[in-house]
Amino acid sequence: MGRILIVEDEEKIARFIELELKFEGYEVDKAFNGRDGLELAKTQPFDLIILDIMLPELNGIEVLRRIRQFSNVPIILLTARDAVVDKVAGLDGGADDYITKPFAIEELLARIRTVFRKKGMDDSPETSGKLVLGDLYLDTMKREVRVKDNQIYLTKKEFDLLQYLLENKNIVIPRETILDKIWGYDFCGETNAVDVYIRYLRGKIEEPFDVKIIHTVRGVGYVIKDE
Ligand code: CA
Repeated sequence: MGRILIVEDEEKIARFIELELKFEGYEVDKAFNGRDGLELAKTQPFDLIILDIMLPELNGIEVLRRIRQFSNVPIILLTARDAVVDKVAGLDGGADDYITKPFAIEELLARIRTVFRKKGMDDSPETSGKLVLGDLYLDTMKREVRVKDNQIYLTKKEFDLLQYLLENKNIVIPRETILDKIWGYDFCGETNAVDVYIRYLRGKIEEPFDVKIIHTVRGVGYVIKDE
């Protein structure tokens, strides 16, 4: 169904929204200030965030700005009546929608459904930091990888490499490009580092599970795609 984070310092409002959302079948977490909200958004996966703008510790616009540095999770802002500046700043800052207080709960529920519908249309796993390809699942926020529901432990480089390939799935990426992106321009080790790490990845995510998704393009580089 979906997990929703409510960041709202007026606890009565937060509880009321929580109750209604739970009644609709959503899982709900709450934070009562901007800092806690940001921390939760950083450390836990959410499908949507309802974010009040007037918040203690860190205001909603700032929380929004910081979340957008690491996640595309859909965000609906709660704004005070007639706060036009807030709305503009919020939408410029990457909010998906806003709703003006006081609002009818039905209106909020409708906005949530619309956001989920849109998200579904533009490939939901990727917009929430989750990359999926066949039996492979990678969560960029939790830095978690699963193949056929088995958790896979990758080193940082292996993870970065896999994420990069997944973000460019179906695109052949030259070895040099991979080297630049993952190891950096000033890397002066062996150029076959890419091949070595591809071998590590295959040993962890393909061979044990009889999966074949990383393909070698002879003389060029690699592409990740479903069989
Ligand atoms: Ca508030």
